[in-house]
Amino acid sequence: MLHDVKLEQLAEPLLTWFVGHARTLPWRSEPTPYRVWVSEIMLQQTRVEAVKPYFERFMKALPDVEALAACPEDALLKLWEGLGYYNRARNLQKAAVQVMEEYDGKLPADYAKLLTLKGIGSYTAGAIASIAYGLPVPAVDGNVLRIITRVTADDTDIMKPSFRGGVEAELLSMMQKLTLPQALVKKLRDENVPGALNQALMELGATVCLPNGAPLCGECPWKTFCLARQQERVGELPVKRKAKERRIEERTVFIIRDGDKVAIRKRPDTGLLAGLYELPNVEGDLGDAEVLAYVKELSFSPIRVKELGEAKHIFSHVEWHMKGYAILVEEESAGAAERVPKECDVLPGEASGETGAGSLIFVDAEDAGERYAIPKAFAAYARYMDIRLGNERFVQ
Ligand code: SF4
Repeated sequence: MLHDVKLEQLAEPLLTWFVGHARTLPWRSEPTPYRVWVSEIMLQQTRVEAVKPYFERFMKALPDVEALAACPEDALLKLWEGLGYYNRARNLQKAAVQVMEEYDGKLPADYAKLLTLKGIGSYTAGAIASIAYGLPVPAVDGNVLRIITRVTADDTDIMKPSFRGGVEAELLSMMQKLTLPQALVKKLRDENVPGALNQALMELGATVCLPNGAPLCGECPWKTFCLARQQERVGELPVKRKAKERRIEERTVFIIRDGDKVAIRKRPDTGLLAGLYELPNVEGDLGDAEVLAYVKELSFSPIRVKELGEAKHIFSHVEWHMKGYAILVEEESAGAAERVPKECDVLPGEASGETGAGSLIFVDAEDAGERYAIPKAFAAYARYMDIRLGNERFVQ
């Protein structure tokens, strides 16, 4: 795989470049195992700039494994709100509980043991083991696969799991044999070569050997021997199997206002956005008459209605094309719907874990956005949760 280009050849210019070009990032200033772990999980599928404020806030609220393990789920999801892929947060917490029970609150300095923790795969285990503990193991993600295939001009499909496994094995064997000039080693944080090497590979992929559009080859420490550059094949690499096209789903979203309350509901415990609160919504692009019929079906008496326009949210496999309506209903017209008093911090059934998915709960509209983690997918409409309906179309 690494054919004519050897890691020894890659490592020294890469690390020399890294010493002068490493970005200042909050998790790099103090690379404890906990901070490395949380940052790596946040950085999966999320840009560095977007992660920075979340990371700082998260560390302030939950500074160690113990605090994370003990955090109520709603508060945890609230801290994660906006980052998306909420299972990452749930798995972080499950793993934190595991670390408390099995490792006395300290992440194990052992690659194989790290892999047994919920949500930790080979990349994250490699990042924690090398950056926080200085162990010579690789951390191979899409960035690393891209730059390795380019520098070696390898046209294997990088989506093949066997290819990733092969790169990991070759990097592992090379990292274990690697020797570098002492003067260079001394310039690395804590003289940690494996940690610096993995971070340098990620950094090169994130700032120089860029994914879409032209990589900045002129600034690359590998420019003199990069085979893709020599063979003028940079634009063709990496070879990546086309992802399946996303399914388009049309949805109609409702802001249902009853006095100073607004309706939310819990999503089912499995599937997309599992277990999170959401605005009531149905599949399909409903017209005016259907919207009113739907609200009446829920046993409400609609008084006023306002269209909130269209919005789109893209998940990895599905796209929601949405249309929103704000509807004022006659106060307490659906007597059975649960109403949460303003001062109440815990939703009905929450403490006992019995909150049923699907049923509407009316919560205080004024601060609902701050108190409940409503997924980003609903952001275009969630900002209307405290809307006042007065002059809108009156329903006959
Ligand atoms: S020379 Fe260009 S293509 Fe090759 S590794 Fe560097 S940035 Fe990537």
